[in-house]
Amino acid sequence: MAEIRDVPLIIKKAIWRIETARKIIQLLSFVLVSATIFGVGPWEVLLPIAYSLGTPHKTVGDAFTVLQRVLYEQAFPWLPIASFVLIAVVLGRSLCGWVCPFGFIQDLMAYVKKKPTEFSLRTHQSMLNVKYFILGVTLFVSVTLAVSLAMGVGQSYEAAIGIFAPAPFNALSPSDTLFAILPRIVLKVWFGVAVEGVLLSPLLWARFVILGVFLVLAAYVPRSWCRYACPHGALLAILNRFSFLGLKRDPVKCTKNGCRICVEVCPMKIRILELPWEKFTDPECIYCLKCVDECKTRAIRPKFP
Ligand code: SF4
Ligand code: SF4
Repeated sequence: MAEIRDVPLIIKKAIWRIETARKIIQLLSFVLVSATIFGVGPWEVLLPIAYSLGTPHKTVGDAFTVLQRVLYEQAFPWLPIASFVLIAVVLGRSLCGWVCPFGFIQDLMAYVKKKPTEFSLRTHQSMLNVKYFILGVTLFVSVTLAVSLAMGVGQSYEAAIGIFAPAPFNALSPSDTLFAILPRIVLKVWFGVAVEGVLLSPLLWARFVILGVFLVLAAYVPRSWCRYACPHGALLAILNRFSFLGLKRDPVKCTKNGCRICVEVCPMKIRILELPWEKFTDPECIYCLKCVDECKTRAIRPKFP
């Protein structure tokens, strides 16, 4: 048990952790992306993070949402693609670990349960592909609709998919539900505006179910939405392999035979010890640096380039 004289040292150690810095940056980013309510922005900046289509207070744009909207307007989405490529090539998927508001909410949910639950490796590996499927379906709908509208034959297609037409993913995105739909309903109830009509919508309840499932799941399986379902994360995962930013592991310092702390603390379930030690840029790595923080022998370090 720790003695009284050790307390300052314990506090100092807790403060000087990368994880503390990360939480502060996540919180500041969370405030900053909605800071137009404080008179800041909006800025003409697109970031590959999951935020929301319907939030009027956002300072920065969410690149995947804008990508779908630009396709719907039958233009080529140069800017969102540039945002994904530039950020992923320089910083990999680190915005997922340090900036994304929905990632931050999931990290907070992970505090609910001290010991995370994990799927078996086989289930985990198969479920990683779900996010690529969601990305593929979203792009398929957006691109085919854009092409058919541009050819003047897409009106019935557009009418058939209804609310999914402008941004197919956002129509059910838990991030939109949490940051745009839910606050709007709460504000309406607060100011006595009738919401009965809104609450009858089956789509709204589908949204609530998806949000609820992934928030609860995040308490058990860290970053489950990011791992298995997020199409922003899927695009970044594809590009993450080419990232300048990576991690390296010193095999001499690494007490590989007995210690697997880095693997155990990794929220993305990355098999660090099986990756090349000179530099690894795993598609799923969000550069949270928990493995760096927890390694007792300081064997893992960020590497750039
Ligand atoms: S993968 Fe997670 S952190 Fe990255 S954009 Fe999606 S929700 Fe945000
Ligand atoms: S490998 Fe390290 S930096 Fe990457 S997600 Fe896992 S713990 Fe975070």
